[in-house]
Amino acid sequence: MTFMRAYNFSAGPAMLPLEVLERAQSELTDWRSGMSVMEVSHRGKDFVACAAAAEASLREVLAVPDNYKVLFLQGGASGQFDAIPLNLTAPGDTVDFFNTGQWSKKAIAASTRQGLTTNVIADEAASRYTTVPAPGSYTPTPGATYLHYTPNETIGGVEFTDIPKTEALLVADGSSMLLSKPMDISQFGVVYGGAQKNMGIAGLVVVLVREDLLGRARPSTPEVFNWTAQAKADSMLNTPPTFSIYLLGLMLDWIKAAGGLTAMAGRNAAKAGALYAAIDGSEFYSNPVAVDARSRMNVPFILANPDLDKEFLVGAEAAGLTNLEGHRSVGGMRASLYNAMPQAGVQALIDYMTTFAAQKG
Ligand SMILES: *Cc1c(COP(=O)(O)O)cnc(C)c1O
Repeated sequence: MTFMRAYNFSAGPAMLPLEVLERAQSELTDWRSGMSVMEVSHRGKDFVACAAAAEASLREVLAVPDNYKVLFLQGGASGQFDAIPLNLTAPGDTVDFFNTGQWSKKAIAASTRQGLTTNVIADEAASRYTTVPAPGSYTPTPGATYLHYTPNETIGGVEFTDIPKTEALLVADGSSMLLSKPMDISQFGVVYGGAQKNMGIAGLVVVLVREDLLGRARPSTPEVFNWTAQAKADSMLNTPPTFSIYLLGLMLDWIKAAGGLTAMAGRNAAKAGALYAAIDGSEFYSNPVAVDARSRMNVPFILANPDLDKEFLVGAEAAGLTNLEGHRSVGGMRASLYNAMPQAGVQALIDYMTTFAAQKG
């Protein structure tokens, strides 16, 4: 059978490495004892070992300090928007947020919904969410329990280069950047992210929580969202997303074989650098984001003539470049360049863009 794998630029669920898919395929019908990983008990020794190995790999690859718990939960990053207030605060407590775009806004809405005094201490609305707060331009609220921010805004294509400097506890939605580069976890109280961007497939959200923050959950917290209860149960209070955890383990093996997060960071920077250079070097394409806030993961760009959007997308699809349509709220195009997107895929996109602009520009 001959087939061509598409270069899939989706923002998530995202492209996976072919090696990972082929390994999953080779193990699919007979993982252990004539059963697939999807068919075994999550409490049996084979799956318990599989989940433990995935956790050990994650700790190794991301250099997670020993005083952090690693939780494998469900409900996505979106579930954690509510779980964070439930696990860390009482109603009426004060928390701080950076609003850098759509995912920040959803986290802010959940904070309000959970009865918190929610202070947006930096809001990038004035730049139409094309910037990140400048260091020193914001003042944390005295007594705030934490500062929540989104290191990479997947929709707007805005990314922080540095970790915000604050005395407050830091909570980060790392959904679209976790495992794309090294990260100093010790700077954070909580880091969480859905697996379907850089870490594997949908169904799994990874939560890293500093141990001293456990034990504070509101009594009303749904048990499956209670970090303390889940930590005690090794994330197996109920049936966990077994196949997603297995896939995370395969992704981590692939990352290790490729040289770990330093190598990922180098590759991701090179891919994004090439695409931004192509956009900036053209009269036909543009990216609205401030240069120092540009995402390495999600690159939105617009065509000089939006009437050509459809034709651009149809031609791209025919060239094996899929899912380039921009988010409905932003329009134009968006190329997501997560770990599994090879440099060759980015080069194929640049070549297509150059040819298209030459013909239509
Ligand atoms: C994708 C994404 C989410 C939502 O993740 P779900 O798993 O769909 O809940 C939240 N935040 C950011 C930054 C994301 O990229």
